[in-house]
Amino acid sequence: MLSFTEYTEIVKKHCSRAVAHQPSIELWQSTSELTTTMTDFQKNIWAPWRMEYIAGLGEGKDDCFLCRLSESPRDDEKNHVLWRGARTLAVLNRFPYSNGHTLIAPTAHLAEPEDLSDEVLLELMQRTRDVKRVLQAALQAQGFNIGINLGRCAGAGLPGHLHVHVVPRWGGDTNFITVLGDVKVIPQSLVEVRRLFLASAEQLGLGPAG
Ligand SMILES: [Zn+2]
Repeated sequence: MLSFTEYTEIVKKHCSRAVAHQPSIELWQSTSELTTTMTDFQKNIWAPWRMEYIAGLGEGKDDCFLCRLSESPRDDEKNHVLWRGARTLAVLNRFPYSNGHTLIAPTAHLAEPEDLSDEVLLELMQRTRDVKRVLQAALQAQGFNIGINLGRCAGAGLPGHLHVHVVPRWGGDTNFITVLGDVKVIPQSLVEVRRLFLASAEQLGLGPAG
C-alpha cells in the first residue's frame, strides 16, 4: 500500500509526462488541485500511448489508412474491418481507447461534414447506430462515447478523412493502472473482438446492407 506522499510523487511524475504533450494545461500547485485533476482523469479517457500514433499520421490521401483499407476488401479480416457498405466502412481501431473501439468512415477521402452527401451521412449514422448495438451485445458494454474529432487541435489523428469513434465503456474501466502507469489493458485481441462482433451481428440480424 502506497503512502499518500508516494502516491502523490507517482502522480506528479506521470502527469508531467502528459502535460508535456499538452503544454496549455498548467501543472497543479497544491494537493487540492491534484485531487481535482485526478478526478477529471478518472472521468475521462486518457490515453498517452496514442501520441506516437497521432504524431506519425499524415493528412494526404496517400498516407490515409482508411483509404488503404477501403481499397483492399480482400484484406478485411487481416485489417480488422467489420463491415463495408455502399458508402461507408466500419473497422476496429488498431490503437484503441478501449476494447472494441470502432471507427466508422465514408469510403471516400473527405474531411468535413459539409463534404458528405445526405446519402453518406445517413449511412454513416445508421452504421454508427448498428455498431453500437452490436458492441453492446458482443461485449456487454455498459456505456459508450460516440463522436467525431475535427482537426488536429480537437484530437483528430487523421484529420483528412472524417470518421466516427464508437468507444465502449464499462464501470471502472479507467483504473489505477491506466491513470498512473501509461498502460492500458486491452483484454481481448482485435481478432477475438472481430469474431465476437460478427457473431453478435448475425444473431441480431444486423449488417452493412442499405
Ligand atoms: Zn482517406
